[in-house]
Amino acid sequence: LMELTKKLLEIQTILKTVRQDDGGDDSEDSSKHSSALQLPSIVVVGSQSSGKSSVLEAIVGQEFLPKGDNMVTRRPIELTLINTPDTDEEYGEFPQLGLDRIRDFRRIQRTLYDLNMSVPESECVSDKPIELRIYSPHVPDLRLVDLPGYIQVVNRKQPPILRQKIRDLCEGYLKQPNIILAVCAADVDLANSEALKASRRNDPLGMRTIGVLTKMDTAEPDAAVHMLTQNDYPLHLGYIGVVCKPVREKAGKSSREIVLSEAQYFGRHPEFQQPGLQVGVGTLRRKLVRVLEDSMRRSLSTLVDAVRSELEETKYQIKVHYNDERVSPESYMAESLDTLKQQFKAFQQQFGKPQLRTEVQRWLESRVMDVCAELYWSDPAVGRLSNHVTRSRAAGWWVDIRSRAAHAASSATSVISELLAPDTAKEQRGPRLTKSSDMDKQQSGDGSEQVSNRSEDAKTTVSEWSESDSAYWDHQLDRASALLTKSGVGRWTTQLVVDLLMDSVTGMVDNEPFIHHPETRSAVLNFSHAILRNKYHSTVDQVENTIKPFKYEVEIEPHEWKKAQKRSSALLDNEIRLCRQALLKLRSSTPRKQLQQAMQLVKAAEKRGLDPLSIQAELVRRNAEQAAETPSSKSTNALKPDDSGSAAKADGSNTDDVNSHSSDVDELGYAQYSPRILRRAQQALMIHDRMSILHMRKKALSSTACSSLDNKSLCPEIFLDIVAEKLAYNAVLFINYELLQDFFFQFPRELDSNLYYGKTLQQTREFARQNPRVGRQLQLVERRQKLEIVMSRLQELMRQQEAANAESSYG
Ligand code: GDP
Repeated sequence: LMELTKKLLEIQTILKTVRQDDGGDDSEDSSKHSSALQLPSIVVVGSQSSGKSSVLEAIVGQEFLPKGDNMVTRRPIELTLINTPDTDEEYGEFPQLGLDRIRDFRRIQRTLYDLNMSVPESECVSDKPIELRIYSPHVPDLRLVDLPGYIQVVNRKQPPILRQKIRDLCEGYLKQPNIILAVCAADVDLANSEALKASRRNDPLGMRTIGVLTKMDTAEPDAAVHMLTQNDYPLHLGYIGVVCKPVREKAGKSSREIVLSEAQYFGRHPEFQQPGLQVGVGTLRRKLVRVLEDSMRRSLSTLVDAVRSELEETKYQIKVHYNDERVSPESYMAESLDTLKQQFKAFQQQFGKPQLRTEVQRWLESRVMDVCAELYWSDPAVGRLSNHVTRSRAAGWWVDIRSRAAHAASSATSVISELLAPDTAKEQRGPRLTKSSDMDKQQSGDGSEQVSNRSEDAKTTVSEWSESDSAYWDHQLDRASALLTKSGVGRWTTQLVVDLLMDSVTGMVDNEPFIHHPETRSAVLNFSHAILRNKYHSTVDQVENTIKPFKYEVEIEPHEWKKAQKRSSALLDNEIRLCRQALLKLRSSTPRKQLQQAMQLVKAAEKRGLDPLSIQAELVRRNAEQAAETPSSKSTNALKPDDSGSAAKADGSNTDDVNSHSSDVDELGYAQYSPRILRRAQQALMIHDRMSILHMRKKALSSTACSSLDNKSLCPEIFLDIVAEKLAYNAVLFINYELLQDFFFQFPRELDSNLYYGKTLQQTREFARQNPRVGRQLQLVERRQKLEIVMSRLQELMRQQEAANAESSYG
């Protein structure tokens, strides 16, 4: 039954991977959970220089252990010997390093040296074992562990703690069911043997310790035999004497030296021929094989029980935590990609041409609103236009807003969007083409002057509508239409759709299971982006081409006008709603009374064409100055005219006005408010103005004049809405075909070719393990598989065992 050890050693190799998967490190003693899943090994202990390495090499029949004066064994070496009777090849393997079939034993020696030296000197020793397997027809099936040698006296380079560290490390290996090979040199008193002391601590009855006496040649044969047979330190398995070095001895009486092998040495000295005496490496080897096999056999049923209960436990875990779901790395991968494909399909089904048109049109409508705000609602003359359309004579009230409108109305749009950003504004009006900074530019420079000039005109000719008025609004309509058609509709609408698609894909991969797979997530985003990028420019060009005619002329049917009239009124309602929201937001963040009073002040200042903020700043500065000059006087003192005059000159523009108007404005009022409040008040007034204009425009749009296509230049909101609709219709035709359908076609294919095909099993496994839940499940399933293999092999061994027992009892 020589095969038992071999088979069990194979099983042990599998069990070792089970233990490693459990996350414990791979030393024999460290695994708590599956410590029962162990088979006995032979652990070799002894003092430094006791001849430990020599014994191991003698057993293996190869020189492979690193040697040197300073301590070289810093890590346990777990050595598995595998007998390969059918081949002459001898080689070693380091499974941890993936080094296979090293036939050169000097290379094994060097590797072992390097692995030992990888432990820093400060740590001295490490409990991380080195795994080494040696295959040879000349070795028996054995499992041995070489441990760092005990040291008696620490030398100057070795820290004192080293002694204890080595002891602790060895102690772990000396536990049941391991067999202890206690190596003692014959030239040292057994009473001083560290190996025997260690054995006594862990195996007090000496049941599983084999004593090895090395360097038998260094003692007189009598004394050596005495040591082998002594009874002071009795061991059940006895002592074996070995010589692991060629012995030089005088040949008889002559002074000539001869070199003797171990066998020759023992043969030459009759003292060693006593019956029952155990000497020689061969004897040791046979003994080790027998003892290990016995021990293995005894461990067999314990192991079977342990494996069975581990298997049950593992199955139970799978059932409880995973409800026996079947899973493999491949199935998980396929399922994950399927989830994505399905989500994509669902998206594809609910996002077609109609949805695309809605999105593009929504964006273009918001663009219409921007253009109207820019060209009409900020133009003080728009009141005049509206009144003309509604045939209203009550023209006075809009003149009131005119002075502020010139100053502020164009930035009302940006104020509103700023107040509502980022939460609602974008969602309600879609992305904005015109940034607020672009709008702001119009305030200063030519734009604003033009506006205020016209407002003067408007004031003086309130009631007459002239040819020049019509010409002006015709011109404005052309400008507005051009702003809409020539602002890069192709680029913006294409970008809009690209963003939409990328957002949707991002939404899909930001969900289970892809939150566990960051690389896969970015791979999906990358190829999606690549598909879209590929099509971007051609789509933009196509859209620009198709809308080109609208840049010159927009033809409108009467029925289109009717529909648009309703739509644009709804758009204005939405704008009014946004204004209300912005106002609410302003009010909620400012004390009501304060805001109202500040609004009064701002109004008063603006009536005189002044900037309330600079008045405020100037007042604060002057008060501070005054306080510094006459510390006793109160800071609320009225301003002295000459003081303010000199300050104004230094400052420049507005302060002159502060001075000249100081009589009719309660200047001190301004100083009470912080610039923040004043700015808020300004903003509130702007929004009020914008709302007034919007209401006025709404009224105009529903008038009879605006029911007719002929008056399009008087009703620009309706006209522009029709243009927007036409642009949207045509843009969508090409975006749908060029971009959307292509994306729908490519995405699933890219998904397969990027993430599915050509994946190695290793990659698939890594992917699955990224998901902690699946990783644990797979680990359990693998554990179950391994334990099942082990179990079936063990049962087979048990059957053979029983058969053999039955045979021997018959015989
Ligand atoms: P380790 O430190 O316990 O591994 O001991 P080594 O195997 O390196 O041996 C220590 C020293 O003892 C070396 O110089 C060996 O050559 C020597 N040695 C080993 N075995 C024998 C032996 O059987 N007889 C003699 N005379 N010397 C030996």
